[in-house]
Amino acid sequence: MSHVMNTYARLPVAFSHGEGVWLWDTEGKRYLDALSGIAVNTLGHAHPRFTATLSGQVGRLIHCSNIYQVREQELLADKLCSLANMQEVFFCNSGCEANEAAIKLARRYSHDKYGAGRYEIVTMKNSFHGRTMATITATGQEKVQKGYEPLLPGFHYVAFNNVEELEQAVTDKTAAILLEPIQGEGGVHVADREYLKQVRALCTKKDVLLMFDEVQTGMGRTGTLFAYEQLGVQPDIMTLAKGLGGGMPIGACLAIDSVAQAFSPGSHASTFGGNPLACAAGLAVCRVLLEGQVLDHARRMGEYFAKGLSDCQERHRVVREVRGLGLLQGIELDMEGKVVVAECLARGILINGTGEHVLRFVPPLIITQPEIDRLLDTLTQIFSKQAA
Ligand SMILES: *Cc1c(COP(=O)(O)O)cnc(C)c1O
Repeated sequence: MSHVMNTYARLPVAFSHGEGVWLWDTEGKRYLDALSGIAVNTLGHAHPRFTATLSGQVGRLIHCSNIYQVREQELLADKLCSLANMQEVFFCNSGCEANEAAIKLARRYSHDKYGAGRYEIVTMKNSFHGRTMATITATGQEKVQKGYEPLLPGFHYVAFNNVEELEQAVTDKTAAILLEPIQGEGGVHVADREYLKQVRALCTKKDVLLMFDEVQTGMGRTGTLFAYEQLGVQPDIMTLAKGLGGGMPIGACLAIDSVAQAFSPGSHASTFGGNPLACAAGLAVCRVLLEGQVLDHARRMGEYFAKGLSDCQERHRVVREVRGLGLLQGIELDMEGKVVVAECLARGILINGTGEHVLRFVPPLIITQPEIDRLLDTLTQIFSKQAA
């Protein structure tokens, strides 16, 4: 009997090591990793430059405390702010914590500027923001909330990509709107550019903060460093996590100057948040993405992969729709997703499903054309067999 709490429906495979986009299980079988630990291992496994940087940092300093100056944190904050066109960062260890920080910052900002009654946050149906109490409340899906009531007061949910509903939900009690530029866990749904433009205008008009959860879409996943760059709208607060540390746990809540001022010493804190090792990992990821041209590569591979998936849709009736940006792609199927996930696993390919009918592909950003072809060929084989 396992002594690990039973919170995951785990597949019967364990990995011992990896290299690039490949993982080996404990029996020696090799897999093409098109999941990246759910959009985390952006540089794949055992990336030489990344590994060397981390090993060096482990030998120097892993953790001190936020009681002191943390040089690596300052460097990563400088880097992220200049890339994101924001001014300040709060570091934590995960996506839900980054969103917790965003929610707290929005409430504090609104409280200090407008008084105690203006604290509501509007989020989207079908969204995903994490598993803490505040972030399951923010998440517009009953299945993650069920049994944990009472939830946090002050959250409202509206349909994604529907500006009329949003306009009705925003009142003089609204502090912020929180949304994912692409709903990842919710089934890979991309926000419309026109919708986001209207959301931005609404927020600016009412001094309601626009908060983008880029925990999954950030750090090059969509072909630009942040998804919002392609969608033409700048948020006031943005959260990052998954790909930021290339596998090291780290989360970040970025904000524009006027909003970030709402936090002062004692407002918020984290023991581990932004420790030297995690920040060295974040810095190494930024360097490899930008100086190592991995971001440009990811954009090209994203286009190639999306085209391949569209071709696959044309050939196989079971594929109803292809959605996504860059190397965050999803396909909606006319069959159960988990059947295909299991078939892929048997054939040495790692992918996962979101919901019942959507397959999600989030490979390492270093994936190459032949490796994408292999993934597409495997899908073709599975769909052909299904049709027969
Ligand atoms: C994964 C995810 C989270 C939660 O991140 P954790 O690190 O698991 O807490 C939050 N928001 C989005 C959009 C995510 O994809």
